[in-house]
Amino acid sequence: MRCIKPCPYCGGTGELLQPYSASAYVQCSKCKTGLSTEHGEKAKEHAISIWNTWSDSFSLEKLRFFKKHVENQIKYGMDNPKHLKLIELAIRRYKQ
Ligand SMILES: [Zn+2]
Repeated sequence: MRCIKPCPYCGGTGELLQPYSASAYVQCSKCKTGLSTEHGEKAKEHAISIWNTWSDSFSLEKLRFFKKHVENQIKYGMDNPKHLKLIELAIRRYKQ
């Protein structure tokens, strides 16, 4: 089994979950961010590879862009301030 990368938001451990035998998804054990459920024979492998690709694609630039987007969404009541906290945490982690 391939290793699961840490959550790009909070650094928490990614956990492979299997709601049914032929489906799987990865969720952060800390902030509970989860990605879509994969189905079929290779559900586990697909779920891990999607999570890892998502985690790898994060950069400070992307996070800053994302933060602006979420700030705007919050202004219009379309997002949760909790979400913004997670992004700010992620940005702080990237700066270290
Ligand atoms: Zn997390």
